[in-house]
Amino acid sequence: MKILLVEDDRSIADSVVEGLTAEGFEVAHAANGAAALAASGYDMVLLDLGLPDMDGRDVCRQLRQRTTAPIIMLTARAEEFDRVLGLELGADDYVTKPFSFRELVARIRAVGRRTVEQPADAPVVDLTSQPQLIGALQLDRRTRRVHVNGVETQLTAKEFDLLAFLATDIGAVRTRTEILENVWDAHWYGPTKTVDAHVASLRKKLGQHEWIQAVRGVGFRLEPPA
Ligand code: CA
Repeated sequence: MKILLVEDDRSIADSVVEGLTAEGFEVAHAANGAAALAASGYDMVLLDLGLPDMDGRDVCRQLRQRTTAPIIMLTARAEEFDRVLGLELGADDYVTKPFSFRELVARIRAVGRRTVEQPADAPVVDLTSQPQLIGALQLDRRTRRVHVNGVETQLTAKEFDLLAFLATDIGAVRTRTEILENVWDAHWYGPTKTVDAHVASLRKKLGQHEWIQAVRGVGFRLEPPA
């Protein structure tokens, strides 16, 4: 699958291009709206809304007139992006910045499944569009809300990303390095103590220490407490 990435922020663009290439996608990069509208031959578009030359919404509208390729908008949290408006403009989905690389790939694959393969009857479990249930924990990636025993718990962006990453494979042990790469940045190698600090605060908010188990010398796993 060929992906057109429309993003003016060089550091984000570089890391997304490198990461998606490593995942087996072909990626073309456009640094502004004009370059995006001039591009062709792609199967999906990742479109940053804050572009230097044009409003990303206009780019979206105009892309939609030229292509049926699915469009995923990349929006900054502060922009208070209106999902309904985005869909009216012709976007298929959106991802809120800062996003973890793993989440972005999950969204790309989910949109690709929905729009390219069009599974007629077999329901596809799409982690991004419906809440994931893990014991008493409900994790909604679309709205970024978490409920424990039906009560909403307020997580910071990083706590949410950490939980969402661990929840992609219940019971699997994730190393601190894997967590740093996926939750913080594909190319961010900070002190692994950062992970431990976020695990500690997340445990507190989930109400039970046992939700996130430390595996000595390896990393962490998420599992419903026994
Ligand atoms: Ca931007």
